[in-house]
Amino acid sequence: TKFSDLGLSPQILDALSAKGYDVPTPIQAQAIPSLLEGRDLCGIAQTGTGKTAAFALPSLMRLAASGNKRMPGACRMLVLSPTRELAAQIAQSFSDYGKGMNLAVGVVFGGMPIGRQIKMCGQGLDILVATPGRLIDLIEQRALNLRHVEIFVLDEADQMLDLGFIHALKQIDRLLPKQRQSLFFSATMPKSISELGDRFLTDPVKVSV
Ligand code: AMP
Repeated sequence: TKFSDLGLSPQILDALSAKGYDVPTPIQAQAIPSLLEGRDLCGIAQTGTGKTAAFALPSLMRLAASGNKRMPGACRMLVLSPTRELAAQIAQSFSDYGKGMNLAVGVVFGGMPIGRQIKMCGQGLDILVATPGRLIDLIEQRALNLRHVEIFVLDEADQMLDLGFIHALKQIDRLLPKQRQSLFFSATMPKSISELGDRFLTDPVKVSV
């Protein structure tokens, strides 16, 4: 499979060449066409498999295709990550792959002053990458609402549970609009994790790499 077989736009194909990516990884080849169609996805995949690009590339295309609708105090895509390091990496990937697409990418996590994050959310974002605790702080401070989320990604679900984020995730779930695309990733999928996935997903495509 080639990237050009997956339905990606010329602009994204250029960004991939610039990064030096020649061929899609298995999760990219399996996930990207369904995600471009707007399907939900449940993926069993570890870090290092290329899963970030697998969800970032089709999402960037969908957000760009549906026009510039970013609103103050809201984001159009929410990516939840269990750790600060991973959140920062994911946000960097969105910035790299989406270069020149005029989409606003932001990242928020704890351990940093909240003031700048409040201001950034106030301006409105296309893509927000967040850790669950800080996301809830921002919502409680009325800096952010989730009513306009079109695409939701829960990354590393197993780590989320290990780190004790289950209550936060349920709270976030209640605030997300019903009508949206959802993606759920975990390195392992025991019953406790797949049940969490069921809360978020509707008729998902299943991918395991
Ligand atoms: P991830 O699993 O998303 O953390 O990605 C692991 C690493 O693989 C990252 O450093 C990516 O930049 C890189 N990567 C992702 N997709 C590809 C690809 N198709 N070809 C080469 N490298 C890639």
